[in-house]
Amino acid sequence: MTRSSIGHPAASDWRDQASCAGEDPDIFFPLSDLAAPGTEAALARAICRRCPVLIACRTWALDHGEDDGIWGATTAAQRRAIRRATTETIPAVRRRGDGAGEESLPG
Ligand code: SF4
Repeated sequence: MTRSSIGHPAASDWRDQASCAGEDPDIFFPLSDLAAPGTEAALARAICRRCPVLIACRTWALDHGEDDGIWGATTAAQRRAIRRATTETIPAVRRRGDGAGEESLPG
């Protein structure tokens, strides 16, 4: 997502339904990642929670390593935590080699 074209231009299959289209892009790129009530991040996340493509947006941001802005109701710090948790969990299950827990792995 660029500041000049909020709505995720690289993911044209779902961006047309983005609830953030027409919103002030600065809301989605707040100076602070803190999402306390009344902050731009909190406002952006509230818009995201009503968005019909929230999951597609969040997945795209995670898959592409987006490390700036609010995507799919997540801050950059939250996405980093999700990526860390994912990369730490999947190898541990695969190392175990007993298949336990693999039914819950994506893909
Ligand atoms: S989830 Fe949020 S950032 Fe993503 S398209 Fe919807 S409103 Fe925009």
